[in-house]
Amino acid sequence: MLDIPPGAPPDEAAPELPSLHIDETAPYNRAFDEVLFEKTTAVLDQPEAPPSARSAWIWLLGTLGLFALSMLSTFGKQLGIVVVVLLLHETGHFLGMRLFGYRNLRMFFIPFFGAAASGKKHAAPAWQQAIVLLLGPLPGIVLAAILTAAMGLGLNDSLGNGVLLLVIINAFNLLPLVPLDGGRLLDVLFCWGRPWLAVGLQVFAAVALGTLAWFSAAWPLWLLTALLLLTATARARKGRLERVFGHNPLQMPERFEDLSLQHRRELFVFAVLLNPLGRMPALLAPAMRELHERTVSRPPRRWVAAVLLLVYLAGIAASVWTIDTLLRNTRHHKANAVDSRYPLATLSRARSAAK
Ligand SMILES: [Zn+2]
Repeated sequence: MLDIPPGAPPDEAAPELPSLHIDETAPYNRAFDEVLFEKTTAVLDQPEAPPSARSAWIWLLGTLGLFALSMLSTFGKQLGIVVVVLLLHETGHFLGMRLFGYRNLRMFFIPFFGAAASGKKHAAPAWQQAIVLLLGPLPGIVLAAILTAAMGLGLNDSLGNGVLLLVIINAFNLLPLVPLDGGRLLDVLFCWGRPWLAVGLQVFAAVALGTLAWFSAAWPLWLLTALLLLTATARARKGRLERVFGHNPLQMPERFEDLSLQHRRELFVFAVLLNPLGRMPALLAPAMRELHERTVSRPPRRWVAAVLLLVYLAGIAASVWTIDTLLRNTRHHKANAVDSRYPLATLSRARSAAK
């Protein structure tokens, strides 16, 4: 309703509405660019060439050689065992990803750090991501616990020492520090749509790894600390996008391939708005994929998160039990070794025990 000032004649011409000033440079008016949309769609529809099996093997063996060179002085004779332990660990992640239909799978070593398995699955559910993470460290820990229990292993022989490495390397990966498996698991299970919690977890990991780097003089850990601090804003952004776009308010299909033209146009507008500086098809296409991923994502169900957390804690408990048992068996074996060198003392002790 128009407010007519008192005293004004009712038949006076209505005041002219102010003209809407359209700022052509404002991002919301520039957002839809047909040509850019066409080019971005062309990038999205490009078929992805999977890496050949040969190149995957070359990567694995080439990086294994570099890793061995970088770690020879640290591990010496035990380098072979470390490589086997890492291969077992990464094979677990690899098989998990294969089970859940991840693509472009690859396993490789990282000089000075360790090894990794990589693969891609668009909008993989949280529970699948969590199981893939657990499948790295858990098989090694279970194997170490079984060997220790069945064979009464201690650290007096090479098998016992190998088993100790097996459990320590895998238990280290269960520490609640991103980017280790344990930290990433907690992130996947509890940080969906919680940017501050996720950043807190990341900063905690940076401080912990920085402290470890300081006391152990292990310089690769400084790199990891820097990387965590540099990527904290990206992690916060992911959490914010989950909060805004998660639970699928735009009712999009789960698979990116099933998106209608209208849905693609909506994603394109958001991608342009969120990347005002990167108006290039090569940047906008992955931004659209990421937005769709956040849109159809949801947190894991509570009971699923609780069960997976219990499995994680059981892995830690099994690691502690195995290390403790290895150490106790070592002391026990040492006592026996002394006895066998002094048969008379052993005999008299056996006699007094028999009395
Ligand atoms: Zn791992």
